[in-house]
Amino acid sequence: MSDAYNPPMIEGRCITCGRGLVEGGSVTFPCPECGTAIKRCRSCREKSAGYECPDCGMTGP
Ligand SMILES: [Zn+2]
Ligand SMILES: [Zn+2]
Repeated sequence: MSDAYNPPMIEGRCITCGRGLVEGGSVTFPCPECGTAIKRCRSCREKSAGYECPDCGMTGP
């Protein structure tokens, strides 16, 4: 099982704003509830925008 949560560029889109993660500074982290990868772009991370897990519906800051 590989744990590559820190690639230089993340493929996919921001879970908060839905934009593609083309710029650097994006983050991916596992959902605390179900472990699904949550991806956020830099701007959403900087303003601490909330997210909702697509799998379990958990929301977080
Ligand atoms: Zn975003
Ligand atoms: Zn979840």
